[in-house]
Amino acid sequence: MRLFSAVLFDEATLDVISSYRDQLHDASSRGRFPKRDNLHLTLEFQGEIDNPSSAIRALSRLEFKPFDLVMDRIGFFHRPDGDTWWIGVEADNPVMVLQARLHRLFMEEGLSLEKRKYVPHITLGRNVVTDAPACHIAKLSFHVTSVSLMLSEREDGGMRYTSLYDRDL
Ligand code: ATP
Ligand code: MG
Repeated sequence: MRLFSAVLFDEATLDVISSYRDQLHDASSRGRFPKRDNLHLTLEFQGEIDNPSSAIRALSRLEFKPFDLVMDRIGFFHRPDGDTWWIGVEADNPVMVLQARLHRLFMEEGLSLEKRKYVPHITLGRNVVTDAPACHIAKLSFHVTSVSLMLSEREDGGMRYTSLYDRDL
């Protein structure tokens, strides 16, 4: 199973994020753009594991207070086959501490994790070719009250993400 843990958004926040995705789409000559229901903030990518029990155990031990996730810019990671565009989170947001806690809990369960520095972002498009510039956006705040363990499956025409377990904060 291919698993990752993520923050999922409410409908009002998805409205705003998907409108930025649509603007990017309109300004791009090429790219793949996630469908509305797939927009999320990844906290940790667990990768391919046989069963979810150790990841669920780790997540169930998480203790963290609800907090406001504040998104304030649009940017991209340069990729040779077209850039990955995203909405980014303000500096020093509590999500950095949340991710560090989760990382430790997953390590304690023996899961192998990404070693790169964590950059919190919501992907708006992959393999994107556009002239649009990176920019600041009006602050978008979402109150985070749970973290979800997600199953990622390939289906015709894209990815399907399903929540296997939700940990309330
Ligand atoms: P696709 O691979 O077709 O572009 P996807 O990236 O959305 O689709 P997955 O590869 O299953 O689907 O990834 C699920 C989530 O985990 C996404 O948010 C993705 O950005 C993130 N992710 C995938 N691989 C890693 C990785 N090595 N390190 C950190 N996050 C990752
Ligand atoms: Mg991927």
